[in-house]
Amino acid sequence: MLNSLKLNTYRGRFAPSPSGSLHFGSLLAATASYLDAKAHQGDWLLRIEDLDAPRVQKGAISAILNVLECHGFKWNEEVLYQSQRLTAYQTITEQLLKRNKAYFCACSRKILQQNSPVGHYGFIYTGTCRQGIHASNPSHLRSVRVLSGSTPITFKDRLYGACKQNIAQAIGDFVIKRSDGVFAYQLAVVIDDYYQGITDIVRGYDLLDNTARQLYLQKLLNFPQPHYLHIPIAVDAQGNKLSKRNLAKALIGQHAFDNIYQALIFLGQNPPPQHNFSQLDDLWQWAIMHWNINTLPQQGSLLYESP
Ligand code: GLU
Repeated sequence: MLNSLKLNTYRGRFAPSPSGSLHFGSLLAATASYLDAKAHQGDWLLRIEDLDAPRVQKGAISAILNVLECHGFKWNEEVLYQSQRLTAYQTITEQLLKRNKAYFCACSRKILQQNSPVGHYGFIYTGTCRQGIHASNPSHLRSVRVLSGSTPITFKDRLYGACKQNIAQAIGDFVIKRSDGVFAYQLAVVIDDYYQGITDIVRGYDLLDNTARQLYLQKLLNFPQPHYLHIPIAVDAQGNKLSKRNLAKALIGQHAFDNIYQALIFLGQNPPPQHNFSQLDDLWQWAIMHWNINTLPQQGSLLYESP
């Protein structure tokens, strides 16, 4: 079912969720992952993370593909759609259940509120359903949780260096399939990064906290572990991440050159003045040749004022 990995070749990816149009924040992840792949003569793949059907905005997928094309991104292979991958997610979920690495959980939000301490990432699940669902629990809703190990997960991010998270303490057993039947991002991303043979993940700093859970799942599933590079995210004057939710401006194809130029500045790449480039292709050429992760800003987030 799964592709075998060719670890000798760099394979990167960009994995937008089509809950809206791409904005400058998403362009940073696209640009950095693209440059890192191309600077390593690698492949760059595109995956549409359309797992959560109600959140998929009509027209968003074609708009994303179109705007990426206008900005000069060229992806290898066919686009992978997570909505087409449900059988793979279900098969792995069943395997984890069978191996007793995962279990059904019937805790409602109310029960979670009563039983769980609140940590930095929300409720810390204390394992109420770990030994089985209590007979007195009337709920028919069942999510699936994976048993989290108590050994801290350590890894080295290419920019932020040594990272460590004790999943059991910080989050507890985490959901891999929601009670409404939607597979969780953590599970789908791990299965698809493996399926697509991804060796290097470059994405926003806001996802750094998810990495330990993904490494943990990779270990459970015996998948090789990719390298990780998290890049600073763009925030507005109030410190909020630019996002579809807070109505960050959609990227416009006609502004592609300026947008990529701005992204390079934001990513600390110090491009020469704009008049040195007669077209977008030249800017890309320059950016690939000069891609340098040592000049990426080290802070997790940076102010972005839209022009
Ligand atoms: N789909 C996620 C997003 O749009 C990115 C996931 C990832 O890069 O791991 O934020």
